[in-house]
Amino acid sequence: MARVVAIDGPSGAGKSSVSRIVGGKLGFLHVDSGALYRIMTWQALVRKVDTDDPDAVAAFAPTVEIECRPENGAIAYYVDGEKPGDRIRTPEINAHASQVATVKAVRDRITAILRGLTRFGDLVVEGRDITTAVFPDSPARFYLTASAEARARRRQKEEVEKGIANQSAETVKASLLARDAIDSTRKYAPLRKADGAIEIDSSDLTLEQVVDIVLGKIHETFG
Ligand code: C5P
Repeated sequence: MARVVAIDGPSGAGKSSVSRIVGGKLGFLHVDSGALYRIMTWQALVRKVDTDDPDAVAAFAPTVEIECRPENGAIAYYVDGEKPGDRIRTPEINAHASQVATVKAVRDRITAILRGLTRFGDLVVEGRDITTAVFPDSPARFYLTASAEARARRRQKEEVEKGIANQSAETVKASLLARDAIDSTRKYAPLRKADGAIEIDSSDLTLEQVVDIVLGKIHETFG
C-alpha cells in the first residue's frame, strides 16, 4: 500500500515549498491538488462557462481531460498534451478558483483523480481537504498556517519573481482572504484543521525549520 503524507492549509502558508522538499527527501511524489482546481477553472474560463453558475460548472466538469504523469519527483498535469504552466497562476484564476471548487461534481472528480495517484507510489499531497476528505486515514497529516500578512508577503514576492503579476501586498492579501472565506465556509469539504492533524504556524519559522518539524513527525509515524 502506498504511503501518503497529507498537508492542508490556506493559500501562502508554505504548503508547496514544504511538500516539494519533504517529497524530495523521502522519495515520495509531490502532488499539488490546487493545480487541479486551477486547471478546471482555467478550462472553464477558456470555454466561457459561467463560474458563478454551479449547474453550468457541474455539467462542464466531466468534459475536462487531465493526464497525470510522474515527472522529476512530482505529478505533472497535461491538458490536451500541454502543461498549463503559469497560465493557471494568474490573478484571474485566483479570483474564480474558489468558486469553481465549491461545486460537488468538480470536487468528486478531483478527489477520484487524487486517490488514483497512489498507483504511482508514495505521495506527499497538499491542498485544502486532503487531511479531511481525500486521504483522511493517512497517519501523517499536517495543517500548515501563517498570519495573513506573512502569507500575502510570500505570495506577492512569488508573483513578482515569476513575472506573473505586479500587485501590491494589500491587493494580494485581499485576494487570499476572499479565497480563505469561500474555502472555509463552503458546503462540501471545507478547509479546516482535521482532528488529529499536526498544526504548524509558519509565520515566524524558516522553510528549513518547518521541513524539519514535518520530517521529524513523519519519521515517528512511518519509522
Ligand atoms: O492551493 P491553490 O491556491 O493553488 O488552490 C487554488 C484553489 O483551489 C483554492 O483556493 C481552493 O479553492 C481550491 N482547492 C480546494 N481543495 C484543494 C486544493 C485547492 O478546494 N484540495
